[in-house]
Formats: sequence, C-alpha cells, structure tokens
Amino acid sequence: MPLRLRPNPTPEQLARLEEGDFYRASGGCICETCGKLYYDHPYFAEEWAFLTILCNGDFVKL
Ligand SMILES: [Zn+2]
Repeated sequence: MPLRLRPNPTPEQLARLEEGDFYRASGGCICETCGKLYYDHPYFAEEWAFLTILCNGDFVKL
C-alpha cells in the first residue's frame, strides 16, 4: 500500500493551481527524481485531491 500523504498546499502552490499550472500524466510513469511510480506520490487535500505532486514540484492529474 503506497503512502499517500495529504499535504496542505502552500499559498504559492495554491496560486499555481489556480492558474492551472498542472498537466495530465499516466500514474504508471516513473518519477525521474525518486524512481517510483507517479501513483506513489502524495496527493492534495480536498478541492485539489485530483492532483498529485511529484518530487520536482510538478502537479499532475493522473
Ligand atoms: Zn518522486
């Protein structure tokens, strides 16, 4: 069972989210930073729970 944290977005992250600074990706992609699947990265809390955040700070919609 992968660890899926629910971090609270920072004000800076919220600003990026509201600008639509995210993209679609497959959850089966491998993260270049940690080598794990995108599925194994944390997602955000309510309202942005459909987004996952990668090690490099990118927001992706899986
Ligand atoms: Zn990673």
